[in-house]
Amino acid sequence: MRELVVLGTASQVPTRERNHNGYLLRWDGEGLLFDPGEGTQRQMIRAGVSASQVTRICLTHVHGDHCYGLPGVLSRMALDGVAHPVHVHYPASGEPVVGALVALATPGIDLHLHPHGSAGEIADGLSIRPLDHRIEAYGYRLVEPDGRTLLPERLAAAGIGGPAAGRLQRAGVVDGVRLEDVSVPRRGQRFAFVMDTAPCDGADELAEAADVLVAESTFADDDAELAAQYQHLTAGQAGALAGRAGAATLVLTHFSSRYPNVTPLAAQARAQAPHTTVAAANDLDRVGFPSRRPGG
Ligand SMILES: [Zn+2]
Repeated sequence: MRELVVLGTASQVPTRERNHNGYLLRWDGEGLLFDPGEGTQRQMIRAGVSASQVTRICLTHVHGDHCYGLPGVLSRMALDGVAHPVHVHYPASGEPVVGALVALATPGIDLHLHPHGSAGEIADGLSIRPLDHRIEAYGYRLVEPDGRTLLPERLAAAGIGGPAAGRLQRAGVVDGVRLEDVSVPRRGQRFAFVMDTAPCDGADELAEAADVLVAESTFADDDAELAAQYQHLTAGQAGALAGRAGAATLVLTHFSSRYPNVTPLAAQARAQAPHTTVAAANDLDRVGFPSRRPGG
């Protein structure tokens, strides 16, 4: 099961329609909660996801709209008796804020804090790159290893069926039949999460060939000066990021409260990424992953 559950889509100030940020990425057995802003616990209830589904919490930076939901979510996990380990990732310079938020939460869960300070892999398949914001910020990228898709007709011709097909996937050869002769390469899926930032190399590296790219688009193109001043992306810049990266799906979010209607922002992004499916996210949206692309 892989899907993105959008919990909130507002930047600095929530609105009647938009909660602060918050995103739960359901990725096989893992639940990665990104940037839980204020009100995330209630948004999870509205979205029908439980606190026990969260295994990892990833903060891009410690501005309030990206982390004020932390004590509520952690307390709810303690109340629900979550027994599995929960990992929290955040920029090292955010330690005082994260420490204070964690101290407010009900104790009792198996919490592991992981501050980070440079680009690299921080967990299996999960890596970070620096963003360019007013305080230290990192975006996230989750990559599934490449694999191979078995071709049923070739398997049948080779006399491989049932459990032997699984053994072939694991061992690479069964009864003289080689995996590469009965399968084609399958590229692993890629998810990228680019929050508050000016355009930068880190954002491009995160977004590269993403199946689903979540990108902030705080401002419309008409407000590019504000975007530059506060180190945010315009919708057009988010679209250009997706276009350069060859992203399959772009999810725009983190909208300024000055735009009651974000349809024009989606159009501005789309104009820069003609081959990408572009959606302006609403709270409680669910975004599926496109089927895997062939190729290595
Ligand atoms: Zn923000």
